[in-house]
Amino acid sequence: QDDVQVDVAIIGAGPAGAIASALLTRAGRSVLVLERQHFPRFSIGESLLPQSMAYLEEAGMLQAVVEAGFQYKNGAAFVSGDKTSTFDFRDKHSEGWGTTYQVERAVFDEVLIRRAAEQGAQVRFGHTVQAIETGDAPKLDVSDEAGNRYRVHARFVLDASGFGRVLPRLLDLERPTGMPTRAALFSHVLDALPAGSMDRNKICVAIHPERRDVWYWMIPLANGRTSVGCVADASFLDVPEAAREATLRELMRGEPTVAKRFGDAPFLMPVRQIGGYAANVERLHGPGYALLGNAGEFLDPVFSSGVTIALRSAHMAAHALLRQFDGERVDWMADYDVPLRKGIDTFRAFVERWYTGELQDIIFYEQQTPSIRRMICAVLAGYAWDETNPYVADPERRLNTLHEVCTMD
Ligand code: FAD
Repeated sequence: QDDVQVDVAIIGAGPAGAIASALLTRAGRSVLVLERQHFPRFSIGESLLPQSMAYLEEAGMLQAVVEAGFQYKNGAAFVSGDKTSTFDFRDKHSEGWGTTYQVERAVFDEVLIRRAAEQGAQVRFGHTVQAIETGDAPKLDVSDEAGNRYRVHARFVLDASGFGRVLPRLLDLERPTGMPTRAALFSHVLDALPAGSMDRNKICVAIHPERRDVWYWMIPLANGRTSVGCVADASFLDVPEAAREATLRELMRGEPTVAKRFGDAPFLMPVRQIGGYAANVERLHGPGYALLGNAGEFLDPVFSSGVTIALRSAHMAAHALLRQFDGERVDWMADYDVPLRKGIDTFRAFVERWYTGELQDIIFYEQQTPSIRRMICAVLAGYAWDETNPYVADPERRLNTLHEVCTMD
């Protein structure tokens, strides 16, 4: 393989890499995406949030996503024992899309990167980034599957390597997350429920009958399957591979709503486990590079915020980079790191209070003022950067006060 010269080298062809590559290519920049695997490949993270639609639209991908035939999604339902609380994302405080999709990521990610390639991005599958030299003219060392090594000379590198966390590892940027170590057991089940017996247009999150910090997801997908998973403290789900299926089955039968819908539903793929996924970095940028999506910070799956944060980060970094290429001085801390993390911190305030149970008190509070419910709904729909929403502008204080109101009687 010969050495390559491009404007931007992107590590990883997941949603963050696909959106960033499309936006930069559309603006006339040369982009090379290096992806270690071959697509389609399995990925977790199937429930999108409406906020992500704006970025798909901007990157010229919306029509392809609509035409792929994914399961329509308009909200989230939370279940605890016999209580249910339903949010319709169209009834929200913030402007913007109120609907989206629940997607098989193998298909979704392939649609996105194909659209990026159709718009001019060069994508190399089976190529792994091994090393980086940072600076004004960064260089990547890449290997292909035949063992050939070559160099990519770029003007800038975007790390969209997700849980691969290429630059955080190579540059020693990892920082503790402050999130306890949690894990998930999950699979897809055959979904043969009679029409109308469940609202397929919403993710359903059910809380374990005895432990408020343990929860299940049910994400109906197209083609008669539903994604089911259980999230808990890592020690709670620490079982050998051979016991995963029986453990998930037992957990599913232990929660009435999951049990009623899918207690006996056959698994359509081996039960998988993922743990210790929360991650953080010292900073989301450095000389000649920036980190996107999961390669930067990842909090927790409970509010399905991962892909939305990945797309938002791609959108912000691509625009900052285009300004830099146009000769403007970009302050990556002030223009990228701080504003991206502002929204991540909104989700963090919600996630932390989910696991203490406070957010659950808020969600299931029956006398909620409608305007406040619409503000909570906007964050759940992914509008975590809209500072007209008081629960975005000052999430911790607002949630603490609201929790007091909801538990007063
Ligand atoms: P990825 O989609 O992970 O893509 C990274 C790509 O980089 C991969 O294709 C990988 O092969 C490639 N790569 C890695 N290393 C290298 C290398 N050295 N060289 C070249 N290529 C490389 N998010 C949601 O939005 N909704 C959900 O419902 C949801 N549920 C989740 C449930 C669980 C249990 C977990 C753990 C996460 C969940 N997430 C969810 C989060 C979601 O999975 C991620 O946030 C999302 O996939 C991040 O996208 P990305 O583009 O940053 O990275």
